[in-house]
Amino acid sequence: MIVVIFGPPGSGKGTQAALVAKRIGVPHVATGDILRAETAKGTPLGREVEPIMRAGHLVPDDLVVRVIESRLAEPDAAAGALLDGFPRTIPQAVALDEMLERNRRRVEVVVPLNVPEDVLAERVRRRAPEGRPDDTPEAFVKRMHVYRTETAPVLDYYRRKGTCIAEVDGVGDVDTVTERIADALKAGQAS
Ligand code: AMP
Repeated sequence: MIVVIFGPPGSGKGTQAALVAKRIGVPHVATGDILRAETAKGTPLGREVEPIMRAGHLVPDDLVVRVIESRLAEPDAAAGALLDGFPRTIPQAVALDEMLERNRRRVEVVVPLNVPEDVLAERVRRRAPEGRPDDTPEAFVKRMHVYRTETAPVLDYYRRKGTCIAEVDGVGDVDTVTERIADALKAGQAS
């Protein structure tokens, strides 16, 4: 089962994706985590993407598509994956569909986490001291803009395709939101 979790910066999608992936028994595939690991290791890829990420911009599509393609080819993803932070643009969504179709797979459910913008800004303000370099107020504004202009249209792409979309209210404590997502996935799979 391929599930895409979708949400603006500060929506808690990383935390939720890790918990939900464990619960449904598929790997949590987070492009942001993969790219941050490359940066920490100082690989050529990591060095290339570091300034882009720091500024809150998107890494080029071809690069991130290659990263995801090789990750989904690993044996643990044979039974499925929970994608977090990918696809973030329409070309990425198209590339994902093409790579899945080649293996007779598809995105089964898309889970948008809904959180109002004022709550997002507050969460990111509180998170900033922990040190993600793109959690500064400036980078947050940029990431929010990128989300609205590049990523939100991806949801319309899936809507037009008729992919199951299971909207989830992302306001609440961590466990409550995890339960909501698990319920939404069950309902999504049943439909
Ligand atoms: P995240 O951890 O998902 O918030 O991602 C952190 C940063 O990694 C983003 O702001 C982008 O710079 C980069 N990134 C992660 N996933 C993607 C993607 N699918 N496309 C382009 N850039 C990405």
